[in-house]
Amino acid sequence: MDGSSEKAPAPRNVLIVGVGGQGVILVSKVLALICQRQGLEVKQSEVHGMAKRGGGVFSHVRFGPKVWSPTIPQGEADVLLAMEWSEGLRWLNHMRRDGGTFIADTRRIIPPFAFRSRKHGSQSAYSSQAPREVMEMVGSGYALDASKIAADLGEKRAANTVLLGVLSMALEFPVEDWREVIAETVPAKALEVNRLAFEAGRDWVETTRAIPLAERLKDLPGREAEAETLAPVDIRFEITAEWCKGCDICVKMCPERCLRLNDRLVAELTDAQACTGCRICEWLCPDFAIRVQRVPVLEPVA
Ligand code: SF4
Ligand code: SF4
Repeated sequence: MDGSSEKAPAPRNVLIVGVGGQGVILVSKVLALICQRQGLEVKQSEVHGMAKRGGGVFSHVRFGPKVWSPTIPQGEADVLLAMEWSEGLRWLNHMRRDGGTFIADTRRIIPPFAFRSRKHGSQSAYSSQAPREVMEMVGSGYALDASKIAADLGEKRAANTVLLGVLSMALEFPVEDWREVIAETVPAKALEVNRLAFEAGRDWVETTRAIPLAERLKDLPGREAEAETLAPVDIRFEITAEWCKGCDICVKMCPERCLRLNDRLVAELTDAQACTGCRICEWLCPDFAIRVQRVPVLEPVA
């Protein structure tokens, strides 16, 4: 048997998951371009067709000297990169148990249909597993508030680039390649903030690695944070009248029938107490004219 019949090493697998609008596809594109720069074969497959704002999106990226299949078998992702917390939990069984790395933004994006009760300010059926207990179980990886890091840099939408910075520390590719590919991929006007976000992600890993695991776990949100999210909430409904084109979508889709178009053909809330705060109207409005906030009701100070 000659050398040419030797089996090529198994491909490396990175699974990127999140929800529509977070930049899952951009992250996988950057990774695929970096792999190509190394002369590796790369295959990428994704599902995002149903991901109208907030729907699940995932992308499989496989790279190596030879890659046959574009999809990662269950239990074989070397890295699971979750841009939304519960999406990460949903895909955990795809991660390699022996040495897989879990990277997750602890940000929770609760889908409207998670609100099953029809009461004003009702609670959602979102996962109750807190970052501390999940990271304790997984053992290897990073859970961070990437969205806050990005927001502190002035652009919340750069959370995906913060996570790219973290991912760059988990893979063996030269950092200059990451910097160059990001510069070639993001729009010119967003270049500076993305550059800062990438470095912030890398710095976060450098700092975190120096902290013993037990200490790190203490800093993560635990069950007590979950209890806070189950506290009573008030609903704040805001509409930017100038952006509303009176398409009627929110009115037709509101499960509580508490919206209408007024005589100027602008949507308005007719019954604040009937609104559950489910955010279906916000997610479906094509013009981003509605904002629904769930604000915790603070206990009166004794
Ligand atoms: S979906 Fe948006 S644009 Fe359409 S009526 Fe409602 S608020 Fe206005
Ligand atoms: S107004 Fe919006 S947030 Fe309130 S119940 Fe209707 S769809 Fe849900």
